[in-house]
Amino acid sequence: MTFANLGLSPEVLKAVEDSGYNTPTPIQEKAIPVVLMGRDVLGTAQTGTGKTAGFTLPMIDILASGQTKARMPRSLILEPTRELAAQVSENFEKYGKYSKLSMALLIGGVSFADQEAKLDKGVDVLIATPGRLLDHFERGKVLLNGVKTLVIDEADRMMDMGFIPDVERIVSLMPPIRQTLFFSATMSKDMRKLADQFLMNPKEIEVEAPSSAALTVTQGLVTVNNKNEKRPALRKMLAEENVKNSFIFCNRKKDVDILLGSLTKHKFNAGALHGDMSQSHRMETLEKFKSGEIRHLVCSDVAARGIDISNVSHVFNFDVPIHSEDYVHRIGRTGRAGQEGHAFTLATKMDKKYLAAIYKTIGREIPAIEIDGMDEIAEEAREIESRSKRVSKDDGPKRRGRGRQQSNAPVEKTDSANAKPENDDWKSKKNTRPKRSRYSKDEDDVPVMGLGEHVPAFFNIPFRKPATK
Ligand code: AMP
Repeated sequence: MTFANLGLSPEVLKAVEDSGYNTPTPIQEKAIPVVLMGRDVLGTAQTGTGKTAGFTLPMIDILASGQTKARMPRSLILEPTRELAAQVSENFEKYGKYSKLSMALLIGGVSFADQEAKLDKGVDVLIATPGRLLDHFERGKVLLNGVKTLVIDEADRMMDMGFIPDVERIVSLMPPIRQTLFFSATMSKDMRKLADQFLMNPKEIEVEAPSSAALTVTQGLVTVNNKNEKRPALRKMLAEENVKNSFIFCNRKKDVDILLGSLTKHKFNAGALHGDMSQSHRMETLEKFKSGEIRHLVCSDVAARGIDISNVSHVFNFDVPIHSEDYVHRIGRTGRAGQEGHAFTLATKMDKKYLAAIYKTIGREIPAIEIDGMDEIAEEAREIESRSKRVSKDDGPKRRGRGRQQSNAPVEKTDSANAKPENDDWKSKKNTRPKRSRYSKDEDDVPVMGLGEHVPAFFNIPFRKPATK
């Protein structure tokens, strides 16, 4: 099967060729002809399968005819996180470079003015997170009754993040006669029920289960005696010469900062990515990681889900993920596009239950590996332990009133047993979200920070005006 067999236009085929793709992935092979026919799609596929091109390539051709109107986008792609939305917009630019389509990206944490200016001119494609889109709607800056093609991407993630009421509201503002493409990494009963609300006689498309996505990734499990041994063990592994760059996952955003402090103190070139950071800071950090300016990215699941950066040599699970499916998403950050990758997980005896759930998900155990110098690691851990005991004895009552940032405690001192995992923060919000008067609290309830000093390059690419037919 080649792309030329799928019914795409010469312009799109040329852009695909420029991207270096020779063969369509299974989701592309299945979805592209169906989308071109105008049918609704219920797709079970996760990021890393080529899903984005699976819907963007045919959309570009569908949108090739027709005219834009001010504030009335012709198509809408909903994404749960800003990073994913930005990634899809980059894909649209790449695949749409020979097509005359205009696009706007509406995500939180970025100035309203630029987004409004684009909406005023009229756009063919709107890529948005639900909160920011509703914000624009409330301000009267966008109308959704001209949307003919709707994509709801990563629907299970939208549900985890409590966005479904927003999605339902958005869909209610659209014409009932439209084409809807609904994608989810998993297809539970709840997900099907939700999809039923939005789809009409959809074609069901399913591609490989997420657990098989990581065939090119060498996995390993390093068991340490206690959590104080994790930092020295991680440093040992990072110092290995074949670690070019890495994602290092923690379960809690609080621990992301603490681990970053520790690595920086030990002279590792590291940055952090989690849901409490401003959008401009997140984008800037990602750009630095992509360009190699930052080598190791300590991150939470929420911030790193679905991020598509090729050539990441390693993933380290500093914490065993609490939700087994997150293991698959985490290790999928390496070994992308058939390249070799390595994923190492640090665990203690306490993680038995979580590891068992992961083994069930991936259908096998993670092979145990040993690292050299365990005695040294144990010695360092003992030092950390006694240092933190000293600090809490000397500094305990004074520290109570201080913020974490000002604390003089050694970075190795951390007790996060009571901290909530970042994912669970979201889950707990699921059905208890207060009715919001303002919608911009998408993703992480991060205040809108303005564009800041960093403007991602793709924001500045001028969009060609559609040809008048
Ligand atoms: P996605 O699942 O859309 O996030 O895509 C995952 C990665 O696969 C991205 O880096 C794409 O650029 C790449 N990709 C998409 N389609 C193909 C293809 N047909 N051949 C090779 N790589 C692809």
